[in-house]
Amino acid sequence: MLLKSGAKSGILETNTESYQSVAKKTRALSPSPTIGSANQSLSPYPFLNKFIPCNGFTNHYGTSYTNPLLTNATLDRHYSLLTLSILTKLFIKGCDCEGSTLRYLCIKSRPSIARCNVCNKQISITAKTPLDNYKLKLSYFSYILQDSILQYPKVITSTEISRKLNLPYKTAYYLKKRIQIICSLLNDSLREKLYNELETFSEKNPLRLPKQGDLRPLLQGIPVATCDSVVLYSSSLRANKHRSRRFKTGSSSIYLSNNLGGEQKGVLVHTVGVNHGMTFYKSIPLNNQSYLLKDLNSKIPSYIPLFTDEGYSFIWDRPNHRMVNHSKKSNDHRYNLSRERWITKEGVTSNGAEARNNTLKQAFRSYHYISPKWSQLYLDEISFLGNLRYSEGLKELLFEGGSVGESDNGCFTNR
Ligand SMILES: [Zn+2]
Repeated sequence: MLLKSGAKSGILETNTESYQSVAKKTRALSPSPTIGSANQSLSPYPFLNKFIPCNGFTNHYGTSYTNPLLTNATLDRHYSLLTLSILTKLFIKGCDCEGSTLRYLCIKSRPSIARCNVCNKQISITAKTPLDNYKLKLSYFSYILQDSILQYPKVITSTEISRKLNLPYKTAYYLKKRIQIICSLLNDSLREKLYNELETFSEKNPLRLPKQGDLRPLLQGIPVATCDSVVLYSSSLRANKHRSRRFKTGSSSIYLSNNLGGEQKGVLVHTVGVNHGMTFYKSIPLNNQSYLLKDLNSKIPSYIPLFTDEGYSFIWDRPNHRMVNHSKKSNDHRYNLSRERWITKEGVTSNGAEARNNTLKQAFRSYHYISPKWSQLYLDEISFLGNLRYSEGLKELLFEGGSVGESDNGCFTNR
């Protein structure tokens, strides 16, 4: 027994030894981390800098990261021109003179002021736009806008902007608000365009879905709309005197219980979209017929095929509306629930909307919480960032700009 145990421990020792030597070799190959040397600052408490008072603004990353727009002039110029392109394309400004064009970036300390090349009048590019009274560098706006487009489906929080641009939190927050307002305006125009396109499509291709039979072959190459509702930041059970859901079932509660004031705390979102296309979110106070119908009718014309879950039984004027029952019981007594709870035999499914709800829920985890007051702004932002993929012209404008460039005499003008 003794021998055996000795032999065993011997084997174990040699094993650990060989493991350690392998680890050492690999460590020698890889660059060694230098945490110790990097922290050799003058402070006797390098990890407790946060608690030591300092002058002026510093974020957690202090001087170890500087915003590239401050150090790289070419980059700054590129994004400034992109901002100017976006602004002048979306909010057209001009002088009353005949044949006037605007010259940009000609007043050194005031990049948001343009001059008329005929009468030399000063015209503000940012006035009466979402960038009204904007005091930051022009480049910051398009830099962050582009970043939020690239990062979709993840959202950019104000804290992230503050770190990226070395700005105080409040400044970053207002920059984000400006971006959200632009996104909201653009999203409205996308919604109108989509509605008009769907309307002309349904006029040119009149479709009446049959009451029975497989719908999938009929729906090849035809836009199918789906809608669903989802709750963000619901009141939890313990915080809410055990009122988790309205009437025991139904969607989880966004209101506090009456003895806590009855205020709205959560956000109820109605998702309406076209499969493989744009999706729009609307923050609604109640999950009832009037709010849902109003939102639906503003986004989807009535003859477009519409697939929903079982909560939309009140719709009567849409001939191509089909529902899927998420809690359908099985006909076979061996099983409790049916297999057709997500896709019916006819191919009716609201999975498109469910998927977008999932993206929304995951993205909004980053915010921790948003108040119902601002919810529509946040929803419009993420909706627009998702919809941008389907609008080629807008994508080109927000990424490449190109409408403002340097002319022969060294001025920046509209091309
Ligand atoms: Zn003029």
